[in-house]
Amino acid sequence: MKKSVITVIAAAVVLVVLLMATFGQAASKVATIGCAIYKFDDTFMSGVRSAIMNAAGKKAKVEIVDSQNSQPTQNDKVDLFITKRVNALAINPVDRTAAGVIIDKAKRANIPVVFLNREPLPEDMKKWNKVYYVGAKAEQSGQMEGQLVVDYWKSHPQADKNKDGVIQYVMLKGEPGHQDAELRTKYSIKAIEDAGLKVQKLAEDTAMWDRVKGQEKMAAFLAAHGDKIEVVLANNDDMALGAIEALKAAGYFKGGKYMPVVGVDATAPALKALEEGTLLGTVLNDAKNQGKATFNLANVLAQGKTPSKANMGYTISDSKYVWIDYQKITKANIQDAK
Ligand code: BGC
Ligand code: CA
Repeated sequence: MKKSVITVIAAAVVLVVLLMATFGQAASKVATIGCAIYKFDDTFMSGVRSAIMNAAGKKAKVEIVDSQNSQPTQNDKVDLFITKRVNALAINPVDRTAAGVIIDKAKRANIPVVFLNREPLPEDMKKWNKVYYVGAKAEQSGQMEGQLVVDYWKSHPQADKNKDGVIQYVMLKGEPGHQDAELRTKYSIKAIEDAGLKVQKLAEDTAMWDRVKGQEKMAAFLAAHGDKIEVVLANNDDMALGAIEALKAAGYFKGGKYMPVVGVDATAPALKALEEGTLLGTVLNDAKNQGKATFNLANVLAQGKTPSKANMGYTISDSKYVWIDYQKITKANIQDAK
């Protein structure tokens, strides 16, 4: 009696061990990717985040964490991923100049890393051959944003309110040091000047990509410059939408009082503003393809393969960069962004 009980238990143990080995092995075939986003509470990055998860589906296990806009927090999260031995990292740095530290850690652990949206400095990108970047060319978004202003200005002579032949503008900047903030600010104005138009900057301030801050800064610009302002440029849609709120409070967008406002991203609330006629135009920052390219690339690397267009679906430039194109969006082609 006792003996048979022991035999049954022993058989059961053997069975469990065998099952664990089998399933354990099957499970280990799906890679784990550790992904850290600079902060979850960012409209554009929320879109990228869901694009990553959608692309992953059941193809891999993606652990996404919120770095809460703190680089030390992000470094801790990366350390945890490394301790867990994830197969690849996908990092949206809080401070892009801190990428070097993350690359050093990843290299020591031999875990490939894909950065996204916040571009590491070229010297950091060169530190290791298993470092990649998925993003969009900041200059291109700036140029397109400038062209939106040019198209409007040329077709609306009344836009030059004081009839001096010069565009009096205000600029809402994203986070200082972010490639998209610096280059959109520069290239949007350059595109306007390259089109032969004259500009005068009335004010420029950072609103940190944030809608509420955009509203506050725009209210301050209006208090200082009032009706002298002829165009509002914002480095992203959230700040443009904040500016629109401030303009509405100042009586714009009714009774024939209008202000051209342009942004970047083509987020859902921005497309709504475009339809309502408050936002003049935006530039599609393709969250879907940025998320998909990030996942595909990280997943190929996680399997120890060398990424190529054939195995990850996107062209790799200079053996490190995946560039996703921007696109100009107005009411006329709003469907392209939807
Ligand atoms: C987007 C911003 C976003 C930022 C985050 C930019 O590319 O245009 O909306 O806040 O990335 O890093
Ligand atoms: Ca003018």
